[in-house]
Amino acid sequence: MANRNHLRRHAYLESLLEDTDTFLGGRQLSLVHADSSFLLFDPRVPNPWLSDGGQVTWLLSNQEQIQRQGRPFMGRLFGFPTGEHRTLEEQRIFRATVKAVLHLQMYEGVRVAILPTPAGTQLNRLNFSLLSEGHFKVAWPAWHYYGSIQSAEARRATGSQLLDVLSRFSEIAPNLRWLAPYRPEHFARGIRVALPGSWRAFLHLLHGGRCADCNRQVKHLAHVDHMRPLTPEESPYHRIAAGNSVLFNLSLLCSGCNLSKSNTFATAPEELLGRIAPHPSIFAYLKRTLSYEPGRIPHSLDDRLPPAGEENVDLSSPPQ
Ligand SMILES: [Zn+2]
Repeated sequence: MANRNHLRRHAYLESLLEDTDTFLGGRQLSLVHADSSFLLFDPRVPNPWLSDGGQVTWLLSNQEQIQRQGRPFMGRLFGFPTGEHRTLEEQRIFRATVKAVLHLQMYEGVRVAILPTPAGTQLNRLNFSLLSEGHFKVAWPAWHYYGSIQSAEARRATGSQLLDVLSRFSEIAPNLRWLAPYRPEHFARGIRVALPGSWRAFLHLLHGGRCADCNRQVKHLAHVDHMRPLTPEESPYHRIAAGNSVLFNLSLLCSGCNLSKSNTFATAPEELLGRIAPHPSIFAYLKRTLSYEPGRIPHSLDDRLPPAGEENVDLSSPPQ
């Protein structure tokens, strides 16, 4: 059943891609896709953006559309569950998943917005695509994206469905928290760059306002932590790569923990990659995107890992 749903979803995404292709080149073109995958978080099941090759291919197709359009016209709105109770281990997986998914979207040039979503919100409120070209609007209600599927075709909404999507969108629009896009310097290793305020606010939300180390409430003095330090200590036991400022490498620490941490790190942020992205080609793709800025690599799924010395080094690798 899961496979059949996957195939239908891929067919749906493909036909949605073809349909939206016809609008490329429009001067006032904008397109938003809403996504509820974080609301379905289950620590035992990887997120589709990190485990489903068809969905990653769809993201790469989004990137091609953005390239062809020549400007970032596409946004993806992610429902973010608030008030959930999780174990510490589940929290680690959840945070790594959310950061990896958002990182990939931003990496591929998709603008990202977070929508804090209380438990009990109906998922179908957050499954739609909406295109605007000036006053002209088209919606794909996408009720069959995750739910029970009647047709795999991305059918445009009828008049009343369009009004429904527009009202759903205008309802959530004021609460969307847009994240600043990546710039090349965020990929530079060992260099401290100014981090956007929207990222700091997002990290605060992701961590529930608590320090990732001591779990104390962090108020205004939030220190954003580079999990892999920008200037790591030398060690005889493993190769050390300096960290960079991609979203995946950032976390929230209270000032006390951040100052005492200095240049050491207890956990490599990449430790969970194999768990949240178990598929080899997606794992390799994710790892490449953490290592290179978007202009430097082909945007495709293959199994090649970055050449040794440039990747985020795995702490579990044997001494050199
Ligand atoms: Zn702390």
